[in-house]
Amino acid sequence: TPGIRPLVAGNWKMNGTRDSLAELRAIGEGFRGDLDAKAEALVCVPATLVSRAAEAVAGSPVSVGGEDCHARENGAHTGDISAEMLKDAGASHVIVGHSERRTDHGEDDALVNAKALAAWRGGLVAVICIGETRTEREAGRALDVLSSQLAGSVPDGAGAVNTVIAYEPVWAIGTGLTPTIADVAQAHAHIRKQLAAKLGPASSAMRILYGGSVKPGNAAELLGIANVDGALVGGASLKATDFLGIAQAYR
Ligand code: PEP
Repeated sequence: TPGIRPLVAGNWKMNGTRDSLAELRAIGEGFRGDLDAKAEALVCVPATLVSRAAEAVAGSPVSVGGEDCHARENGAHTGDISAEMLKDAGASHVIVGHSERRTDHGEDDALVNAKALAAWRGGLVAVICIGETRTEREAGRALDVLSSQLAGSVPDGAGAVNTVIAYEPVWAIGTGLTPTIADVAQAHAHIRKQLAAKLGPASSAMRILYGGSVKPGNAAELLGIANVDGALVGGASLKATDFLGIAQAYR
């Protein structure tokens, strides 16, 4: 989108130990010069690694994010982590509403909305994920699903500074399958239109990332689509060469 600096974001999911920080360091070192000039980079890592990850990329243009947060700031929520804690550990962003959270933990739009608000409260940018399932797409309901997820998951007050939207068709995550160029273009145009209707001009500079089996080999094609302002990358973010290969689409 004209005027929007793209974002290449990684999501390590439940992968990574201290040894994996070498890959992150390599991403930090690789993401310089003309790459840094054209796109921003973010890697979201397991909570156990956030503070070490932040140290590993210190001095590089790469930011670190969490993968989820609780809606509350603190309290009796054993095992949970707040946005404030992620911020304190060195994160600048947090993913909320990833389809794996929605599926594995039964998170609904109302909870995702509360988590996005919590992210802002804690001083983090919320990366809000939406996307249809295969059944929903085959039933011709993909755009309706996106509309209702946007309406429910994105709080009023969202704008380019505090929020990134990630469109991730659930059936394309980790499967090697991707939608057609036309389907991605249609979904992103639809999301752009819905955001404008909901949020007004504040939404015009919001990034809409595509996620789902982005690899170095398909990045240029996917990231060249209108209204695709970057990528959310799962599997291919674990290897520096793959992640940097995807970012090369912006050279
Ligand atoms: C993701 O988990 O956000 C994702 C897009 O995964 P993958 O790139 O592995 O499909």
